[in-house]
Amino acid sequence: MTATDLRTRIGSVAGQAFEVAVVGGGINGTAVARQLAHEGRSVLLVEKEDFGAGSSSRSSRIMHCGLNYLAEVLHAKGPGAKLRNLRLARRMMIERARLWRDLPGRLIARPFVIPIRAEDAVRPWAYDLAFRALRALGGYGVPIDYRRFAGQSLQDHPLRPFFSDDLVGLVSFSELVFEWPEAVCHDYARDAAALGAKVLNYVALADVTRETGGWRLSLVDMLTPGVTSSVSARHVVNMTGIASDRINARAASAGLTGFPSRTVTPNKGCHAAMRLPEPFRGMGILRRNELGHLFLAVPWRDYHIVGPTETAVVGDPPPPRAEESDVAALVAAAAENIPGAHIDHDDVLYHWGGYRPAGYSADNLRGQWLRTIYAPDDTVQDGGAWLSMAWGRLADHRITAEEVAKLIAARSGRNAYPRSTERLPPLAPRRADERDFIAGPLGPATLADVMFGRLGLGWSADLGRSEMRRVADVMAEANGTSADKLVLDYEALLRKEFGATS
Ligand SMILES: Cc1cc2nc3c(=O)[nH]c(=O)nc-3n(C[C@H](O)[C@H](O)[C@H](O)COP(=O)(O)OP(=O)(O)OC[C@H]3O[C@@H](n4cnc5c(N)ncnc54)[C@H](O)[C@@H]3O)c2cc1C
Repeated sequence: MTATDLRTRIGSVAGQAFEVAVVGGGINGTAVARQLAHEGRSVLLVEKEDFGAGSSSRSSRIMHCGLNYLAEVLHAKGPGAKLRNLRLARRMMIERARLWRDLPGRLIARPFVIPIRAEDAVRPWAYDLAFRALRALGGYGVPIDYRRFAGQSLQDHPLRPFFSDDLVGLVSFSELVFEWPEAVCHDYARDAAALGAKVLNYVALADVTRETGGWRLSLVDMLTPGVTSSVSARHVVNMTGIASDRINARAASAGLTGFPSRTVTPNKGCHAAMRLPEPFRGMGILRRNELGHLFLAVPWRDYHIVGPTETAVVGDPPPPRAEESDVAALVAAAAENIPGAHIDHDDVLYHWGGYRPAGYSADNLRGQWLRTIYAPDDTVQDGGAWLSMAWGRLADHRITAEEVAKLIAARSGRNAYPRSTERLPPLAPRRADERDFIAGPLGPATLADVMFGRLGLGWSADLGRSEMRRVADVMAEANGTSADKLVLDYEALLRKEFGATS
């Protein structure tokens, strides 16, 4: 498909009626569209940039194993709260096994260590109990490889010299890491299209109005100013992450009632790509300090992704970017957690920022870590449901897709029950045909979209510079554009968004 084709696709849906329109093509929107298309519904998915370009491309990429929830069991007040956290830990273990099976090649099992210091509230032996509990809650065949090092085995551990003098224990286990999440968003979007959904990237929802039994959606082409289209949909699923409240407000002015005006709070999080000493190659580090701050060094190719920061945002969030103060905080965190590595600013290869779509809380500027799907009663919605979500993580996206599908089914009436109730099959292994992702039917618009989202080459220590010319040539040939211009734009983006210096 050429650039011209890409720019005229919006016209292909003009005037069409869909059962469900999914707005936002991050991990949650693409997973929802795929689930609904699998169930036999007529689905439209629109994404204003490329698939996965929002929060989904900015995360630490961890498929958490449930350890956090177990730690909460210790702190939670009352048996009800303890039980709830135990249930959540079990759910994450089950989900971990399901994604391991259903996303072949998109998750990698990595060894992680947790350094335990004298000051830490959780004592080394407590990890024995926690991991025993996790296994009992359900390992489901995915190894967790737990080991604790103490006494001589701690002193002999090759990583011991890099941690602080007050180290009292070290545990290691296997954590799953998404092999760049945008790849999953692209694969879901393609699979949704193969299952019959109409899938449009670079197309934004601009406005909505009510019509009998549903919604009319005004769409704009983000690549061609002035090109618009309109479609109707019985139900709308708003999966636009930090933009959710803005989109919900459009629906409210069209008569939607029963929705809170605030559901999401952007919470800024930054990462820095760093080189750690050779013994850390392929090995992650995870530590939560006594204030509850999370430090992660996620092994990625030949370097580590260090983060995340966590900063409350007041007012409209500016374009995501790690500022100097964010990078300084990341370097300080690495120096504090791995003092023997002598990390300083020169070890930073590049950096980036993003926003978590945390749940809104009137009492907490940082927002709340609580996944919530808003689905007001449709008696006030004239039959056409409007759904929206806060704080849907990568880790929970399949759970979200299934919950949304159930809510849609419940609001669709007897005649519109899922045509297929079969379990969604695993994604096929990713095809090696690079050209398909560069010149295939879903774009791309920029070299950055190919290098980061589609091929993952941008997420390399050199930000993909060694490959950019080759990829630009293929893209230029397919789209009839200038490879030089593609490269120049790519370099400009690396400077602006990733702190690249040359
Ligand atoms: C620093 C950081 C670390 C994180 N670490 C982890 C982790 O380790 N593990 C984990 O599970 N989660 C993690 N998360 C959370 C996770 O990344 C997000 O919760 C998740 O990616 C949200 O996905 P989403 O699909 O809901 O939103 P998004 O990925 O933001 O997708 C929303 C999409 O909607 C599109 N959109 C907006 N407006 C419109 C419109 N008008 N029309 C059409 N499209 C529109 C946007 O372009 C965007 O692509 C982290 C997040 C951050 C920022």
